[in-house]
Amino acid sequence: MAAERILIVAATYVRNLNGKQIAIIDGYTFYACNSLSGNLDTSMWRCTKGYPCKARFKALNTGEIVRVTTLEHEHVPPAIDVHDGILYKLAKKKPTPVTYATHMR
Ligand SMILES: [Zn+2]
Repeated sequence: MAAERILIVAATYVRNLNGKQIAIIDGYTFYACNSLSGNLDTSMWRCTKGYPCKARFKALNTGEIVRVTTLEHEHVPPAIDVHDGILYKLAKKKPTPVTYATHMR
């Protein structure tokens, strides 16, 4: 796969029901994990799916993304809904349209 430089990536920042900040890119959700590097101006954001998904990026605390490690996920996006800046997870009862589209290709 060709290495592709992503120059402009925008994340939407919301909060979940627990008040935790969540970033959304292309329908995928990320949570911040403070790096131990001592740099308090940036945070690493990891896919909420966690291992083995390697999608993650680094962003300034202002929300500006400064480095994308990868945004490739090995799963479909989570079923989510956002209302007034609050993230709601939808119950997974049936495959999403995204799943169908992938299989029909
Ligand atoms: Zn992921």
